[in-house]
Order: sequence, then C-alpha cells, then structure tokens
Amino acid sequence: MRPVLSRIKKISALLFGLDDILKQHKAKVRKRGAALLTLERSQHTISRKNIPQTALRTLYRLRDAGFKAYLVGGCVRDLLLGKAPKDFDVSTNARPEQVHRLFPNSRIIGRRFKIVHVVYGQEIIEVTTFRNDDKSAIQSREGMLVRDNSYGNSIEDDSNRRDFTINAIYYDIDDFSLLDFHGGVYDLNRGIIDIIGDPDTRYQEDPVRMIRAIRFKAKLGFKIAKRTEEPLSRLAPLLLNISNARMFDEVNKLFLTGHGLQSYRELKRYKFLELLFPGQKGIIGTADFDRFIEYALASSDQRTLQQKRNKPHFLYTVFLWPKIERLVAKRKAKLGHELSPQQRHEVINQACDQALGDQHSVTAVPMAIAGDIKKLIQTAILITDPDLEARQTEEIAQQPSFRAAFDIIKLRAKFEPELIPFVKFWQHYYDEAQERFNLAKLEREERRAARMEKRRQRREKSERRRSRQELTAEGQACMERPTAAQEQFNDDDAAARQERLARARAWRASMNLDP
Ligand code: ATP
Ligand code: MG
Repeated sequence: MRPVLSRIKKISALLFGLDDILKQHKAKVRKRGAALLTLERSQHTISRKNIPQTALRTLYRLRDAGFKAYLVGGCVRDLLLGKAPKDFDVSTNARPEQVHRLFPNSRIIGRRFKIVHVVYGQEIIEVTTFRNDDKSAIQSREGMLVRDNSYGNSIEDDSNRRDFTINAIYYDIDDFSLLDFHGGVYDLNRGIIDIIGDPDTRYQEDPVRMIRAIRFKAKLGFKIAKRTEEPLSRLAPLLLNISNARMFDEVNKLFLTGHGLQSYRELKRYKFLELLFPGQKGIIGTADFDRFIEYALASSDQRTLQQKRNKPHFLYTVFLWPKIERLVAKRKAKLGHELSPQQRHEVINQACDQALGDQHSVTAVPMAIAGDIKKLIQTAILITDPDLEARQTEEIAQQPSFRAAFDIIKLRAKFEPELIPFVKFWQHYYDEAQERFNLAKLEREERRAARMEKRRQRREKSERRRSRQELTAEGQACMERPTAAQEQFNDDDAAARQERLARARAWRASMNLDP
C-alpha cells in the first residue's frame, strides 16, 4: 500500500499547479458526462523514453498513414503512476482491416470485439478501433453486450465505452499531449477507481467490469468510488452469465500477477469468493481455509517479485484442496477398510473430478491443467503418508509434481505442526530436485539458443539462395504458375494456421502455461 501512496504523492508533485484545473475539469465532467481536458507535454510526466520501440513504431506508422493513434488504458495509467505497464494498448480511428493492411506482422482477432494484434517477436501491441457509443451493439436479455463491432470516428465516443476514468486517458503521438474526457487524471491523483457512466448499466453490459474494479483496487491500492462500489455485491450474480473461459482468464489475472493476496482479501470483502469457487460452501470463511490461502497467495506474490512464474494449477490446487481432502476422507470412510495404493489413487482422482466439475460452471480449467492438479494432489497426499515405503521416496522425488507438492505441505505446516516432520524428511529431496530443475532449465536454455542460431543460419542460407534464384528468375518467367485461386487458397490456409498458432502462443504466455 505504502509505495503506491507515495507514488501518488509523486504524481501530484509532478502535476503541481494543476490541482485547480483538474478539480474544475472533474466538476465539468460531473455536470456534462464528458468534457475534454488536454494536458500539454510539459504538464505531464510521460516520456517516450518509457514507451517501448514496438509501441512507438505502431503509433508512428498509423499516424504516418493519416490515422489518429493514441496509447490508452493501463499503460497510460501505469506510466503516470511510475509503474512498468503490463502491456501497451493503442486506440485508432483506422478500421481493423486498415490496420491489418499497414502491418504485415499483424492479425485480426476477436469475435465479441474485433481487434488487431501487431506482433513483434514475443511482444504484442493490441490495436483497437474507436468504438461508437451507439445502440447497434447487440444486447442479451440481461442487458449484456453480446456483440459490439460498431466503429466510430470520435475519440470521445471511444472514451465513453471504456470502463474506468483512470483507464480512459489518451496519449496522443501527434504532440505528446494527454487527453482526458472523464477526469481520469484527477481520480488517478486521488487514488480513486470510478466507472464511466451509470454503474448499474455498465456492469450489466459487461459484469467482468466488477471483477476489474476489484482487481485494480487490489493492484493499485486505490479506493473504489462509492457509486461504483455500491452495486458490486448486489450485481455480483451477473458474473454467472460470463463464459467460463473468460472467467478462467480473469481469475488468473486476479491471483497470479503479483497482488493475489490483496485480491483475495478484496474478493472476500465484497463477497465474490463463494461465486468464484462455488463448490467451497462451508469451507470458505473457515479459519483454516483462510490461513492456507493467505500463506499460499503471499508466497505466489513473493515469487512474482522474484520474477518467477505462478502457474494456474498451483492456484487451483490450493483453492480446491480443502474440498478435495474432505471428499477423500468421506469416500475412505464409506469404503470402510484400508485402501491399496491403486484404490487410494482412484479415490483421490474421483474427488478431484468432483471438485473440478463444480468449479467448471464458473471457470473452464483446461484439461491439461486439470491433469496437473490431479498429479499435484496425488503427490501432496502421498508425501504425507506415514506408511510410505522407503523404496518409494526416490521415485516420488523424481516426479515433476514433487517440488510443488512439497511447497504445499510446507505452507500447511505453518499452521498444522503435525506436518513439520514430513517437511523435515523431504527437505533434502526437495533441495536435490531443485538443483536438478535448475540444471535442466539451463540445458533447455542452451538447446533453445542453439536451435535459434541454427534457424538463423538456415534463414541466411535460404535468403542467399533466393537472391541467387531471383537473378535467374526472369529467364524462368514462362514457367507454369499456380492459378490465382490456388494461390489465394494457400495464402489463406497459411495465414489461418499462423493466426491459430500465434493466438495459442499468446494465450499460453499470458496464462503462464509455458514450461
Ligand atoms: P492491465 O493491462 O494492467 O491489467 P488494463 O486497464 O490495461 O490493465 P486491459 O485488459 O489491458 O486492462 O484493457 C485495456 C483497456 O481497455 C482498459 O484500460 C480499458 O480502457 C479497456 N477495457 C478493457 N476491458 C474493458 C471492459 N470490460 N469494459 C470497458 N473497457 C474495457
Ligand atoms: Mg493493458
């Protein structure tokens, strides 16, 4: 909390002298709904030095082609707060197809909202076309926007469609000024999250905005404005109308990006937890559950600080663990006799399936992650089995799920002292496994670097060959060519494949799924 507050003070200092202007502007916005405030380059702190070349290049190319181009959203907000933005979003009056034509390294994605991804290696700049503030958007019976591809030419209309005032500040590449239609700079200065427009309507249009409000509160240490906060608990059930695939992504953003513990506390406060984890009735709110989750999320946040990745299967294992443990105990009691290792394996798998089945109604946990959760729980239960035979220990310590299982037991041992002997026993195996992991990682990186080098050499070779061929190309001009239709088919096919691959790659990276 404290570092954010001190940063806010810093912005105030940098924007010193603007207090009155910002205040008057906010008053105007309250009266009229929207009003433009322009802050010249000398009046704000965003420097091109802090914007990556990839984003600048995208902005400049759009501008040079005669379009308007702005940075907008979390990147402007975070740059003003002195934080490193997670990603850079561009807003333009160019239509998606026009953007796509300008950037060979781009693709159009999205069904609900068509956007363009401009791809620079691992980095993606998201380019969205101005939205229109009109009624042609298709709404469901609950007032939710189902499809909304009506484009506009006005930046003001676009700003009305954004979620919170602090996310609707535009950085203009033309003269490096900031454009603010909703008093976002004023709210940023005061640490306030306020929704644009009527809160009920905006949450009904897209209930995910409620989770976003809570996420930004947790992430930035801000307050939610009263009017923006009031409907949260009342409208929370609308979240059940959101697709479980989208919810899976949102839940990961809440818990895996460095502010998981604070997100958890805020979700609890607004009574969203039971909604997000519906199979946990009677468990959420108990002291044991609370302690376990708090320790686990604090440790995940610590990992983010150390630039280590947090994976979703660990998160879901932690949240579903108490329920699975109860289910396992219940099934064991029902069977009423000592279980063979095979039977125990089956009982745990069945309990995992039931817990994951309950969870699926809210978040679609992908099959591969569900598999990892089961392996992790099997191992975590095995390493606290007092009857484990000595010959099995080496085998268990070699399993990929062993380190995470040990982490879980270690967390639980903080409040379950009977687990301490198990932690002591396995610590040595854990250290060895960690060493093996580090070594394997190094080897993987070496192999990857070698592969890249080979690829580079192959590319160079083929370029040399191509330029040689081009020299003789004119002599072969009469050679039979594929028909135009065939060429089009090949192009479309390859482009679609490329797009699928790149989308999968981007999604895996954003969800921390890469090995
Ligand atoms: P961060 O990237 O740090 O999580 P962000 O605000 O940039 O935060 P994105 O999901 O990258 O979040 O969205 C970029 C911008 O798009 C937002 O700042 C906001 O202006 C707009 N936006 C995103 N989601 C919504 C939504 N559900 N409703 C309205 N506007 C949205
Ligand atoms: Mg963003």
